[in-house]
Amino acid sequence: MTEQLFYVTTPIYYVNAPPHSGHAYTTIVADTVSRYHRLAGRRTYFLTGTDEHGDKIAQAAARAGETPQAYADRISGMFRETWTRMGLRFDQFIRTTEPRHKRVVQAILQKIHDAGDIYFSDYGGLYCVGCERFYTEKETVDGKCPDHQTPLAYVKEQNYFFRMSKYQDWLIRHIQDNPEFIRPERYRNEALGFLRDPLEDLCISRPRSRLEWGIPLPFDDRYVTYVWFDALINYVSALDYPDGALFRSLWPVAQHLIAKDILKPHGIYWPTMLHAAGIPVYRHLNVHGYWLMDEAKMSKSRGRVLSPLELADKYGLDALRYFLLREMVFGLDANFSEEALVGRLNADLANNLGNLLQRTLGMVDRFLGGRIPPAGDPASDADIGIKRAVEELRESVETAMAGFALHRALEAIWSRLDTANQYIDGEKPWELAKRDAVALRRVLGHTCEALRVMTLYLSPFMPTTADRMWLRLGLAGSPTDARFDVEGRWSGAEERSAQAGEALFPRVDLAAEAPATAPAPQAGTEVASQPEAPPVGIDEFRRLDLRVGQIVAAKAVRGSKKLVHLTVSLGGEERSVVAGILLHYPPETLVGKQIVIVANLQPTTLMGVESRGMLLAATDADGKLVLVTPERTAAIGAKVK
Ligand SMILES: [Zn+2]
Repeated sequence: MTEQLFYVTTPIYYVNAPPHSGHAYTTIVADTVSRYHRLAGRRTYFLTGTDEHGDKIAQAAARAGETPQAYADRISGMFRETWTRMGLRFDQFIRTTEPRHKRVVQAILQKIHDAGDIYFSDYGGLYCVGCERFYTEKETVDGKCPDHQTPLAYVKEQNYFFRMSKYQDWLIRHIQDNPEFIRPERYRNEALGFLRDPLEDLCISRPRSRLEWGIPLPFDDRYVTYVWFDALINYVSALDYPDGALFRSLWPVAQHLIAKDILKPHGIYWPTMLHAAGIPVYRHLNVHGYWLMDEAKMSKSRGRVLSPLELADKYGLDALRYFLLREMVFGLDANFSEEALVGRLNADLANNLGNLLQRTLGMVDRFLGGRIPPAGDPASDADIGIKRAVEELRESVETAMAGFALHRALEAIWSRLDTANQYIDGEKPWELAKRDAVALRRVLGHTCEALRVMTLYLSPFMPTTADRMWLRLGLAGSPTDARFDVEGRWSGAEERSAQAGEALFPRVDLAAEAPATAPAPQAGTEVASQPEAPPVGIDEFRRLDLRVGQIVAAKAVRGSKKLVHLTVSLGGEERSVVAGILLHYPPETLVGKQIVIVANLQPTTLMGVESRGMLLAATDADGKLVLVTPERTAAIGAKVK
């Protein structure tokens, strides 16, 4: 039976440091799955927020010279702003310093206390301030914290304990009876591994003599609540537990999403806390691996590794989203590098996806005057094949997404993009255009319909790209507001007009560090990125003033790793031209060369140097830049026509 509600949470992020790539990945996954389930017709709710109490926050605030509240306000604001800037559509952003959250934490503490599952006792042990926990002798390394390598102090104090040990057998049974409770399976096994040893009771308080920054225990205000016991409760306090409408509707379908480092609090503490408080446990705990930063493969010439957020600025949010969601097998670790991101961008996005749209609409424009024909009835095995391949997406993507296997959903979509590219190659519309107008319309109609349906499937993963594709395909509205059961059906569709537009993902030449989004007049990228540029009239072409120029001086632009400042003679005048060719052409090799420039390009200033013209270049088979030069010496300043 199809579930009609979907509730997903990210961990609430600890405000001891600003957002980083790991946080971004988790939040992007939550955004993607909730967008997907909304398209599938479910009511979705996506919760994120910040965790703001504890020793570490008090210390970080002291170091920053701020009060804990001012510090938490500032860092929490950075998280919220980052997610907003990244277009992540959460429904609620909860903060553990909000009064409504504190009330729920105290209510749950009181309930468990009243039931006799919280007791007061002596406790002594080796304590790490950084970890906010006691260590057993066995866990320490030479008397030091295994994480921080700092000496541990023996701390003896009285505290409150949650009788977690009492629920060990219940939890083992629950995990065994519900194979999907913690997933993927490796983490279920890891949780069962923790439970092979006797489960100890959990110390849930900190004396206020040592720590003020926390939620006071309702039954003893000399103590504040241990930060994990406080933080985990956000998942129900955000829903207005116990009586809120959100809690009643959403909690039964709750799914948590975490990185593997916090498996123990979510897989062991939290279910036992819920059970002790008489609250049903969550449905699924979805656990992902780590991103390993492959610094060796990050852009070396720059001398600095770009963070994923900076990479989003450089290559676009959707390219980053695609890379993160496709590259990581959910549950396993994956390597992050700029090189790998650019590899996926060029191969999967520019070539496969971008080229399919561009070549299809190019032919619609050239052969059908820009009118997209209805798909009509399939007439050949190939027509039936592409229609069926696209229709089968529904089930394979649903299965993958239900299990958080986002990489597999993308694989399924990309295999259909391949099918569509092969369909065009096999049906050869450019030949049909010469002899069979009916077949031509049918083939391009089928391809456009396949593209339309696939755009819907892409939209949870790459919302901006899907919007652009939707528009190019002449459709109104946004796929984000569509539904698989309506717009996702293969249909005959009425004839409509395609919209002209630029390539979705221009190829990136990492060696030249020349993303096509850069404002510089980049020679080369245009040639490679638009194999199916729309036709232009001769008058339009004549508006370009192309001239042969001779390079008379060349030097690297100060402070730039890719720009060369050229002085180009056009016969009667000399031009200052800036070109992104430094990595391919050392300046001293350029002097004397004849080149072709667009002489009437709007002047611009790059790194403080004026550029009046753009030189033409292409790429060779290895993607290296080659300059366009006259076949033999031309008159300097000659018009190219
Ligand atoms: Zn530590």
